[in-house]
Amino acid sequence: MTTPDFAAVLREASLRVTKPRLAVLTAVHEHPHADTDTVIGHVRADLGAVSHQAVYDVLRALTDAGIVRRIQPAGATARYESRVGDNHHHLVCRSCGAIADVDCAVGHTPCLTASDDHGFVVDEAEVVYWGTCPDCAATSSTLSTTSH
Ligand SMILES: [Zn+2]
Ligand SMILES: [Zn+2]
Repeated sequence: MTTPDFAAVLREASLRVTKPRLAVLTAVHEHPHADTDTVIGHVRADLGAVSHQAVYDVLRALTDAGIVRRIQPAGATARYESRVGDNHHHLVCRSCGAIADVDCAVGHTPCLTASDDHGFVVDEAEVVYWGTCPDCAATSSTLSTTSH
């Protein structure tokens, strides 16, 4: 995976290039689906002391500009990712909260064609597939076999 030129990405979105913005964008890019605390941890490792509020503000600015996508499965904390604009979906594990990307059908986005759009102009469909990740499935099957 090549690292995009984040300074150019910010400029294209008409955002001033600042160190916190670059650090947050890098953290989100390198740790897809990270929650806010994880992003803050990586930004601090990179820049030193940065306030929670500063990171929240940067995440909001990047999300508003469409550079970062915010996902929030029901009952989970908000996660951030730099993979935007492709209408991909997410698999979420009910047990451990693991999140994986799922591509929409290749080349087109059938889920954007609602059976009845009620006159809305649809530009995004958010699909969350809930289930059990392989790790958790393996753990629970081990547990159930040993308990017998
Ligand atoms: Zn799991
Ligand atoms: Zn994703």
